[in-house]
Amino acid sequence: MHTAAIAAMPRPIQATIHHAALRHNLQRARRAAGDAKVWAVVKANAYGHGIERVFEALRGADGFALLDLAEAERVRALGWRGPVLLLEGVFEPRDLELCSRLNLWHAVHCEAQIDWLAAHKTQQGHRVFLKLNSGMNRLGFAPASFRTAWMRLDALPQVEEISLMTHFSDADGAKGIAAQMALFEEATRDLPGERSVANSAATLRHIDTAGVRGDWVRPGIAVYGGAPDHPVFNAAHWELQPAMTLASKVIGLQDLLPGDSVGYGSSFVADTPMRIGVVACGYADGYPRHCGTGTPVLVDGVRTRLVGRVSMDMVTVDLTPVPQAGLGSEVTLWGRAGSGAVLPVDEVAFAAGTVGYELMCALAPRVPVVVAEEPPASS
Ligand SMILES: *Cc1c(COP(=O)(O)O)cnc(C)c1O
Repeated sequence: MHTAAIAAMPRPIQATIHHAALRHNLQRARRAAGDAKVWAVVKANAYGHGIERVFEALRGADGFALLDLAEAERVRALGWRGPVLLLEGVFEPRDLELCSRLNLWHAVHCEAQIDWLAAHKTQQGHRVFLKLNSGMNRLGFAPASFRTAWMRLDALPQVEEISLMTHFSDADGAKGIAAQMALFEEATRDLPGERSVANSAATLRHIDTAGVRGDWVRPGIAVYGGAPDHPVFNAAHWELQPAMTLASKVIGLQDLLPGDSVGYGSSFVADTPMRIGVVACGYADGYPRHCGTGTPVLVDGVRTRLVGRVSMDMVTVDLTPVPQAGLGSEVTLWGRAGSGAVLPVDEVAFAAGTVGYELMCALAPRVPVVVAEEPPASS
């Protein structure tokens, strides 16, 4: 008898990237942006979703913004001929050769980057985004040296076009953007060139403030369906849909009696008889270990909670609200369940004291990822 090789079955955990959600969210950002052009920010491997996996869904953007030169090469390798912006500019002089070869636009945030440009031999005129430090105090020229930097760039034959940018520290919070916007307007007054200031939070929350729309907006998290200002507003409020689902299955069941504990450190102790589902997902999959008892999770689309500690390969969940659940039941760690029910990644992140960005970016390499091209169930 012929024995066919049997492919090893992976663990039941899987991430799904939803193209329809990416398209919807990009459209949502575009609606907010009005007539400004939209960079889809795809740094950090498209916030953990995978540049190659999101590309088709996001090619309706006007450009792609990122900061790793290898990622810029990957965007060009996908056949994208439109704008690509290096948000942090080049890191060393030879990076400029790649900018010339691949026609990458690049931020210029310090004097050294201008020195390198001045020494760069190229036939290709570069488009640069001169960056103002308007208060974030990370990258960018101080307001007092901005104009001098602009004039230096303007005098270089290597530079074809100068655009102007800054980045907000508090677009998602109470402090807001007014002070930084005023500094930007002041520093760039009467300078020609396109402008770009708005991340997701500014695009969604402050677009009607004078100057915020600019010529380009730069949404990242919103494109992936995360609310930039959770828990003030959630993704549903901003009409964003999750672009990533992390799902697994129940692989074990335990019936606890009062006084029984679950998992390492016995941190959860049952006070009544209850059924526990053991789920194939742990911190080695990118699920945050800081999520404690009470963190929301969906089982068969029904909202319940984590109990006990997250371990490397498993979490344990309370099956009380889902008495019909059993081995193989669908567990949604974040994203969209088969039923259409949604658990925003921001809520899971909040339970771990962090933000949805970090969870998306930390999806572990061992998790198999599939792309769903079909439209998601209506929310
Ligand atoms: C990451 C980044 C963005 C996008 O930020 P979101 O909060 O994800 O929208 C925009 N601009 C710059 C300079 C960035 O580094």
